[in-house]
Amino acid sequence: ISVFAAVPAGPPDPILGNCITEAFKADKDPLKINLGVGAYRDENGKPYVLSSVKKAEETVANSKPDKEYLPITGFAEFTKNAAKLAYGADSAPLVSGSISVAQSISGTGALRIGGAFLARHYPHSKVIYLPNPSWGNHTPVFRDSGLEVRSYRYFDKDTVGLDFEGLKADLRAAPKKSIVLLHACAHNPTGVDPTHEQWKEISDIVKENELFPFFDMAYQGFATGSISNDAYAGHQIALAQSFAKNMGLYGERVGAFSLTAADPDEKARVDSQLKIIIRPMYSNPPVHGARIANAILANETLYREWEVEVKSMADRIISMREKLYDMLTHDLKTPGEWGHIKRQIGMFSFTGLTAAHTHLLAEKAHIYMTRDGRISMAGLNSKNIEHFGASVDAAVK
Ligand code: PMP
Repeated sequence: ISVFAAVPAGPPDPILGNCITEAFKADKDPLKINLGVGAYRDENGKPYVLSSVKKAEETVANSKPDKEYLPITGFAEFTKNAAKLAYGADSAPLVSGSISVAQSISGTGALRIGGAFLARHYPHSKVIYLPNPSWGNHTPVFRDSGLEVRSYRYFDKDTVGLDFEGLKADLRAAPKKSIVLLHACAHNPTGVDPTHEQWKEISDIVKENELFPFFDMAYQGFATGSISNDAYAGHQIALAQSFAKNMGLYGERVGAFSLTAADPDEKARVDSQLKIIIRPMYSNPPVHGARIANAILANETLYREWEVEVKSMADRIISMREKLYDMLTHDLKTPGEWGHIKRQIGMFSFTGLTAAHTHLLAEKAHIYMTRDGRISMAGLNSKNIEHFGASVDAAVK
């Protein structure tokens, strides 16, 4: 008998596990649509490799780099440029040399490093508040990092928008100096972001209640299509950056964790502790993706080309939002109010469809999405949006 005979089967991951992706793969209907996974798809429904990324990859290949290990905190030129992108070249913490940065295994790895660092070194609290709902992986990431996970109100089902009063009340009521996770932009799964004015109020509460903000920035560039407009700063913060979505480097696993220290001396001490956390986890990060990202960030021509490409991805998504809204509201006169589809931001839309609707859509229309009614807008294109709209209309009627 095996020593592992008693290992119980765990549930599959709701997105990457067999639920959606496997059902989609097994479906042989030519009309099938996968709106589950949050990866950009082009107008033909195909994965998209950015032209700036292809050129960056050529530049890297032409330089015939060796395959030596990176340092524990990664490719220094890349992390410097990633911080510049997030905080702004003229930002005070960058100019004063107070930002501690480590290359990470994409955004997830950055969250995990940050969670572990805070669990070990944040002196005031071991509790992190997540928006409800949040990206499904946040809870296990922070729990496994050694933090206690609680939630603050975020989404209002009735308005399909932000529950701003609930959010403010919960952040005010949180024990002083708690850690709070904030989606920097393009909130996943709801697509609902605070406005600029609401951000200011959140910032005030964070100051009043001395909360420590941990920003998850997995979609920089996707909210407005502009890289710089999406960044947000102003406090002593932790930040998880991902280049999965905005550079389409998903499987290359390129990201960064950073923390704004008080001064260069504190930064150096934080650096040393990040190394102590990372070394036993995976020793040092992979080199290839960081070279690609850096080739773009460090080269003005490629950087400009990349900005245009991010904008075109964001614009295609926005045009799908408009098309879907028009179709449901004007063409099909589908029951319900669909304005949120246009208002929501980033890659996802929280449609308001129920679990029963999503079941019906999979069974009857070969359309796959998460049970919470979230759709990846990038999965829609001019060829499949009619089928989607008509199927939603039928499911709701
Ligand atoms: N945070 C959020 C909110 C996300 O949606 C994602 C990706 N779905 C991530 C972090 C991490 O993604 P990755 O590890 O691929 O960068």
